[in-house]
Amino acid sequence: MKMSEEKLELHRCISCKRTIAPFEKGVCFPCPVCGEYIIWRCKKCRSRMASYRCPNCGFEGP
Ligand SMILES: [Zn+2]
Ligand SMILES: [Zn+2]
Repeated sequence: MKMSEEKLELHRCISCKRTIAPFEKGVCFPCPVCGEYIIWRCKKCRSRMASYRCPNCGFEGP
């Protein structure tokens, strides 16, 4: 996990690249394949099942 690089409180949605506001309660989870990259998704992309791609291992998934 790259916690040292995650000091900013704002995260970017991996699907739409928009900043996720702290109050927006986006979801985050480690990449299901490599487990090293923390994937953030905004509520909208989560409900739309927008696809994403892990920049660490290249996994693509909903
Ligand atoms: Zn999004
Ligand atoms: Zn990955």
